[in-house]
Amino acid sequence: MLEERLKSVIRDIPDFPQPGIVFKDITPILKDQQLCGEIVDQLVNYLQGIEIDAIAGVESRGFLFGMLLANRLSVPFIPIRKQGKLPFNTISESYKLEYGQATIEVHEDALVPGSKVLIHDDLLATGGTVVAASKLLEKLGADIIGYAFIISLDFLHSEGRLTRFSDWIISLAR
Ligand code: 5GP
Repeated sequence: MLEERLKSVIRDIPDFPQPGIVFKDITPILKDQQLCGEIVDQLVNYLQGIEIDAIAGVESRGFLFGMLLANRLSVPFIPIRKQGKLPFNTISESYKLEYGQATIEVHEDALVPGSKVLIHDDLLATGGTVVAASKLLEKLGADIIGYAFIISLDFLHSEGRLTRFSDWIISLAR
């Protein structure tokens, strides 16, 4: 099963990026192109019959599979980046981190108002990042139709934070 294979490949890195945090390292997935292909196949499978105009991915690991998925679905990919990285005119959204805050940005012409957008990131932890991404894209008139993650840290029970934007939450591993 894909979920079991993902769990066996994703490795736990204790005390990264700071003491007490166990980081899920997804980079071993990238060595196995067969597995990468199956991830995209599975996401496409789940999304069959759903109208999607664009995939938005959050820097930087959300770019890896977000772009592959957008390519497979033949829809635009929207990069959401950390502050100061995008070259054209941007709009921004700030959100709280455990310590301090972060700001993400998107180009002001990234989408046509009313576009149905699926947000992708590699991992769902507290949900803060994709909630901020949702608010950011809604400022441009996006209709957030769902979320797709490679892995969710289910014990954080953060999916509830996303349901005010969309009930469609796909996670290939939990
Ligand atoms: P959240 O905002 O849901 O708390 O955190 C998710 C964001 O932080 C995602 O952009 C994700 O890439 C990153 N992140 C947080 N913890 C981890 C982790 O353990 N592994 C990976 N790969 N990314 C993480």
